[in-house]
Amino acid sequence: MKVLKFGGTSVGSVESLRNVKQIVEACPGQVMVVVSALGGVTNQLIEMTRLALAHDEHYDDILEQMRQRHLDVIAGVVPTRLQGQCNAVVEQFIDGNLRSFYSMLCLSSGLTEREVERVGDAIVAHGEIMSSAIVTCLIDGAEPRFSPNFIKTRSTGSGHRLDAELTRRLIIKELGNTSAQRIVMQGFIAGDADSDDKTNLGRGGSDYTAALVAAALQAECLEIWTDVDGFMTADPRTHPEATVIPEMTYAQAQQMCDTGAKVIYAPTLRPVAERHIPVWVKNTFNPAAPGTVIK
Ligand code: ASP
Ligand code: MG
Repeated sequence: MKVLKFGGTSVGSVESLRNVKQIVEACPGQVMVVVSALGGVTNQLIEMTRLALAHDEHYDDILEQMRQRHLDVIAGVVPTRLQGQCNAVVEQFIDGNLRSFYSMLCLSSGLTEREVERVGDAIVAHGEIMSSAIVTCLIDGAEPRFSPNFIKTRSTGSGHRLDAELTRRLIIKELGNTSAQRIVMQGFIAGDADSDDKTNLGRGGSDYTAALVAAALQAECLEIWTDVDGFMTADPRTHPEATVIPEMTYAQAQQMCDTGAKVIYAPTLRPVAERHIPVWVKNTFNPAAPGTVIK
C-alpha cells in the first residue's frame, strides 16, 4: 500500500487534475490519496473570514469566484455521469455552509476569540472538503474517507495539538482493514478529540496528514506530489544552475526543511523516518522525472 499526497497546485487546475487521475490509476495495489485544497483556496477562505469579521460583504465576491472555479474544474475533469452529483455537493458547501458562516460572522458583534477561532476552523476545513469531493469523483473506483474522524487534536488553551496515539489507533481502525483499492481523504483537517469540532494541523499540514497515515499503516512508501522536480541543490529562482538531489537521508531533508526549503512541511518527516518509510518527492507536472527519494 502506498500513500500519495497531492498539493494545492496539483489539484488546482483541470490540466493538473488530469495528471493526478493518471498517476493514481496507474498505481498497482492499494492507494491512499491525501489532498490539499485547490491552490489558493485556503488563503481565500481566511481572507473572507477577515472581511466578514470587518462587516465587509465583499467576501461574497470571493465566494462567488471560488464557486465558479470549483464548478469549472468539475466540468473539465469529472466524468459526465458524476458531474451533477459533484456540483450539488460543492454548491451545498459554498451556498449552504460557507455563506451561512460568513453571514453569521458579518452580522454578529462581540464574538469571543474562542468563538471566532471555532468558526474560522470550520470554515477553513472546506477547502480540503471540496477538493476531496472532486478528486473522489475523478478517480475511477475511489472511496471517500473523512479525515476529522481519525486525525485528532486536543485543545492546548492557545490552539490545538495532534493527539498522536489516538490518531494512530483511529487510522488503523478506519483504514487498516479496508479492501477498497483507492481511498481519497482530506489533508490538513482534523477533529477535536473531545468536542468533534473541526480543527487542523496548521498551514501546509496536508503533508503531515499523509505521513501520519503512511506511518500508522506501515505503507510501502509516501509520495509527496508537488510542483517541483524534488529537493534542489539551491533555490532555482535565484540559482538557475540548481539541480535536483536524487537521494537524501531523513536527517538531511529535515535540515533543509528546518532552514527554509518549502518542499515539504517540516513535521512530516519524523513519523515516516521512525518507521523507515521512504518518501518520494515527485512533480505532478512532470511525472516522468525521477524526483527525490528520502530514506
Ligand atoms: N490547504 C492547506 C494550506 O494551504 C494545507 C495544505 O495545503 O497543506 O495551508
Ligand atoms: Mg504544501
